[in-house]
Amino acid sequence: MTRLDLRGRDLAAAGVDRDLLPRAELDVEAALEKVRPICDAVHHRGTAAVIEYNERFDGVRTDRVRVPAEALEKALADLEPAVRAALEESIRRARIVHRDQRRTDSTVRVVPGGTVTERWVPVERVGLYVPGGRAVYPSSVVMNVVPAQEAEVGSLAVASPPQKEFGGLPHPTILAACALLGVDEVYAAGGAQAIAMFAYGTEECAPVQLVTGPGNIWVAAAKRLLKGRIGIDSEAGPTEIAILADDTADARHVAADLISQAEHDTLAAAVLVTPSEALADAVDAELTSQLASTKHQERIAEALAGRQSGTILVDDLDQGLAVVDAYAAEHLEIQTEDAAGVAARVRNAGAVFVGPWAPVSLGDYCAGSNHVLPTGGCACHSSGLSVQSFLRGIHVVDYTRDALADVAHHVVTLAEAEDLPAHGAALKARFDWKVPEGK
Ligand code: NAD
Repeated sequence: MTRLDLRGRDLAAAGVDRDLLPRAELDVEAALEKVRPICDAVHHRGTAAVIEYNERFDGVRTDRVRVPAEALEKALADLEPAVRAALEESIRRARIVHRDQRRTDSTVRVVPGGTVTERWVPVERVGLYVPGGRAVYPSSVVMNVVPAQEAEVGSLAVASPPQKEFGGLPHPTILAACALLGVDEVYAAGGAQAIAMFAYGTEECAPVQLVTGPGNIWVAAAKRLLKGRIGIDSEAGPTEIAILADDTADARHVAADLISQAEHDTLAAAVLVTPSEALADAVDAELTSQLASTKHQERIAEALAGRQSGTILVDDLDQGLAVVDAYAAEHLEIQTEDAAGVAARVRNAGAVFVGPWAPVSLGDYCAGSNHVLPTGGCACHSSGLSVQSFLRGIHVVDYTRDALADVAHHVVTLAEAEDLPAHGAALKARFDWKVPEGK
């Protein structure tokens, strides 16, 4: 991997310029203009456009986009028992974590006779994207569906790209995962055309209010483009792993973990931040040797050689923390002495993996945590997918006449200060056009 030497710079105090750090050549902003015509076509021509783009990008033409119920049933019946058991364990652990995220309504008495209640209401209908281009992701069915179900969303639809070798249906394991979770509305649609189908609706698919789920750069760009018309979780685009490691880390583990995430996409980012030049050298050697025996070595090699990946040398862990906070990685591993203590100081990351026994792969499938996480620096303002992503908090304001009378003069004063006298009049009208004096 390329090396960036930041030693000797006072980064902890001055802050780190993100532009200094590795970044992909093709970013979401650049992809926006490419996905705009795709989204427009789906808006105006519905299913026909989805079918055309599926054919262009996924190489298979189908008559319809909705997956028939029999295909879901068959996929579950044919699912290999070991894969079913692993999916069930993944679902079980995800439920433990996401059930704990459920919100309860709460009422605060602001003053005698004046309350504000926060009601948590699920979004009515959501579209869940499950990637299926270079790889297929039944695990993303679990990560999308479990929090949506725990939030008690009423209507769930899943979309995943059609697969040529399966007659234009999404991959059978994805269909089986949907069936296992009781999801019966599934569409064979990928990329920007799937996000647009959810946003605008088509003859086959009713529009949704919220789209969640991970995807490649085209999926992330379509989510950004259509945000506003629909809600989105976060831009969960091409995978990123950053590892903050010192010389207590095992170079074999560090290299294996960098490779594991580079496997997702040629645009995936793998970044090592370390004060140890010896570890950096050992990791480079391990990358070369482990890559030789890895199945998807071309894709991984391209990701590791890309501008988005690299090793950053720092003076110490304080400087390292300043760098990883500025980078705001989707996944951040801490492989240092006192890893828990270092992890507790992290401010920006989609998810943090602590110490040698919590690799990102565990989080991808079976930690119980969610693997749909913000990328491209969005972790400094956004969270990973959770039950909260599917809920809206609604304030319900309930005041008695006396409670309103007590505060009316303040409301009128503030309305006048903003030169919005009609706001004040709305109160005066309730008190025979006189402002009560309050207590
Ligand atoms: P995908 O389903 O995201 O994308 C496949 C679709 O991309 C195709 O159906 C096609 O419609 C579209 N596409 C391909 N080339 C295109 C082009 N030139 N122009 C317009 N559209 C095009 O599957 P994938 O490609 O395997 O990518 C999965 C992505 O999901 C990876 O980048 C992976 O890193 C990411 N991921 C992210 C997270 C996260 O939480 N951030 C989690 C898991 C996976």
